[in-house]
Amino acid sequence: MPDRVLVTLDHKVLDADVPFLHADDLSVVRGDGVFETLLIRDGRARVVEGHLSRLVRSARALGLPAPVLDDWRLAIEMAAEEWGDSAEGAMRLVYTRGRESGGDPTSFVMVGPVADRVKHARESGVSVITLERGYSIDLSERAPWQLLGAKTLSYATNMAALRFAADSGADDVIFVSSEGNVLEGPRSSVIVLRDRTLITPPAEHGILIGTTQRALFDVAGGRRFDCRYEALRPADLITADGVWLVSSVTLAARVRTLDGLTLSEPKNVEEFSELVDRAIDSDSTE
Ligand code: PLP
Repeated sequence: MPDRVLVTLDHKVLDADVPFLHADDLSVVRGDGVFETLLIRDGRARVVEGHLSRLVRSARALGLPAPVLDDWRLAIEMAAEEWGDSAEGAMRLVYTRGRESGGDPTSFVMVGPVADRVKHARESGVSVITLERGYSIDLSERAPWQLLGAKTLSYATNMAALRFAADSGADDVIFVSSEGNVLEGPRSSVIVLRDRTLITPPAEHGILIGTTQRALFDVAGGRRFDCRYEALRPADLITADGVWLVSSVTLAARVRTLDGLTLSEPKNVEEFSELVDRAIDSDSTE
């Protein structure tokens, strides 16, 4: 198994250790582009169509040319094949505005190992702090240039929030809007369990549509869960039967503590993880 895989959209497998981007690529100098992160499990990239739909939405929000999906599908398949099936991998689809000096967008698929923290988060859950996002839930509608629902390459504030959490002794973050609504994590969606109801905040609140959350809701309905999009407050997390951060690579990380308070351990931790595993086996998300 290689330790990195790099495939271009003209379907060439490149040596991932050879420099690839131009120094004036607008992703480098402006963070101007979009990306996706997918899990490779058993040699297969998961929820490909869900990720491609979001790539299309993100590209549209940034005014980038519509991605040619068949080219992406083939590049994804080639990269997954190069990676192999001996270990999980984290696959990134990167689509930038290209060079400042002009020319076509830059597009590539890259695979690397899954971060060490992932295993621990899946098995033992995470300690989380709430942090202010600084936005109101209606900003996304009023200010589309803020690109709130797009997965852009400008992730510096998300990473800064995670470092702030680490400095405070926490594993992860849940962002809260200026009026105090629960939004999302810097790299995950928030899901609350109340009895047999799964709740996540609506995307209109200026958060990313989570491919894992969508895939989960698709299968959970058939397992006697009621799935809802509703506004949530931090107090709702504290009184919930269970809270998870879900995302493509980590999958399900149970929130063990929130702002130092220990949350109750749900009865169905195993059932929830199995449901997420099952969700990413299917690829029916739009
Ligand atoms: N919200 C944000 C800000 C994210 O960065 C991510 C994933 O990276 C998610 C939610 C979860 O999305 P997905 O389930 O597609 O990984």
